[in-house]
Amino acid sequence: MIVTKQKKLDEIIEKIKGSVFIFGCGICSDTSRTGGRKEVEAMRLILEDRDIAVEGTYVIDAMCHFQKVRKAVRDNKEVLSNAGTVLVLSCGSGVQSAVGVLPDTIKIVSGVDTVFLGNIENLSSLKEMCSLCGNCVLNETGGICPVTLCPKGLLNGPCGGMKNYKCEIDENLDCAWVKIYERSIIQDTIKDIKKIAKPKDYSVKKPAATLRFTGSHR
Ligand code: SF4
Ligand code: SF4
Repeated sequence: MIVTKQKKLDEIIEKIKGSVFIFGCGICSDTSRTGGRKEVEAMRLILEDRDIAVEGTYVIDAMCHFQKVRKAVRDNKEVLSNAGTVLVLSCGSGVQSAVGVLPDTIKIVSGVDTVFLGNIENLSSLKEMCSLCGNCVLNETGGICPVTLCPKGLLNGPCGGMKNYKCEIDENLDCAWVKIYERSIIQDTIKDIKKIAKPKDYSVKKPAATLRFTGSHR
């Protein structure tokens, strides 16, 4: 899921012109506690307390889904037309769904910062395990990502700073490369990590990628 954190309130309010319609996202922003029903309602109360009129609110299943955003816009057409600003409490992808669907004349404000792709450890802990590098090395590193979990992103490790299996950058962190070695021994894939990894091909991480499916799809 995409992890987000709320922007500073004054930063959001400064961008708002006129009255507001608030969109939330019922999946990632809900789990991040930045834009689910509860946070959308809290934002409504805060804005009204600052004398900013809120025309309406709507939490979409997934703000990153263009068709769902189109439907939400259709369902709220009248009330949206009264709003001077549409405030979106979802990741940058969701904000741009709104930008893509709503007319260019409507001011759209993002209420959160998009932080990382996170694994859900439990309801109060989200952990970054993949940085979406576009050139995955997990098959060579025992299924553990050095790009994300080693603070230096080393493809050949561990570095000389590893001490007592801990990371030199943060002694509370296990060294990612120790974990990679340990798991590779268990998996009998140690030969893979003994090869010197070549510099990563970041050219495959093209900006603004689009993945198109072929054949039947949902
Ligand atoms: S190498 Fe790491 S950052 Fe890159 S795609 Fe694989 S898991 Fe994600
Ligand atoms: S100690 Fe391990 S995890 Fe930390 S920077 Fe060095 S190789 Fe990476």
